[in-house]
Amino acid sequence: MIAQVFPVLLAFGANLGDRGETIRAAQAELAEAAGLEHFTPSPLRETVALTMEGPDPDAPRYLNGVATAETTLRPHELLDLLQSVEAAHGRERSVRWGDRTLDIDLILYGGRVIKDERLTVPHPRAHERDFVLAPWLDLDPQAVLMGHGRVSELLARVGDTTRPFTEDSHA
Ligand code: ATP
Ligand code: MG
Ligand code: MG
Repeated sequence: MIAQVFPVLLAFGANLGDRGETIRAAQAELAEAAGLEHFTPSPLRETVALTMEGPDPDAPRYLNGVATAETTLRPHELLDLLQSVEAAHGRERSVRWGDRTLDIDLILYGGRVIKDERLTVPHPRAHERDFVLAPWLDLDPQAVLMGHGRVSELLARVGDTTRPFTEDSHA
């Protein structure tokens, strides 16, 4: 039997270490991973850190990006893969929304709605995050976020505080 293939949207964030290097290395690993095909990363954008207390201009700034791909992995298998790549890049979970070397979130998995103790999909905060919406729009100007509508309209509503990030000048 041929396995079913689902389109997915992944979101990446890093605000510690060599952020761009970490995100691009993690993406290269995912592009090579079994069960993920047609991996297409967006340009990266830079944003002020969002903490439990709100935006923190004194915290190290984030680089963020998204990627589309197609997967034959089941949702929790994909989450396992994403968490193993986070762990390989030194991700530690101490403070919620604290500084991190790498965060990889599963934003969309086909048209599926998932809600259990490990996984909520569509990601419940994606629609209000410029650092997810803006790079997604870079990849796909027609993008639609399931349950929320056109990404261009969502981004206009929340306001875009992200800045393009030129990878060459930071190499
Ligand atoms: P946020 O979800 O607000 O972006 P975060 O990415 O910093 O916060 P993490 O510490 O990376 O949160 O993850 C906490 C837990 O969230 C993970 O252990 C994971 O099981 C769970 N989780 C639930 N839904 C998702 C999802 N769609 N993508 C990734 N992790 C998820
Ligand atoms: Mg996150
Ligand atoms: Mg996460």
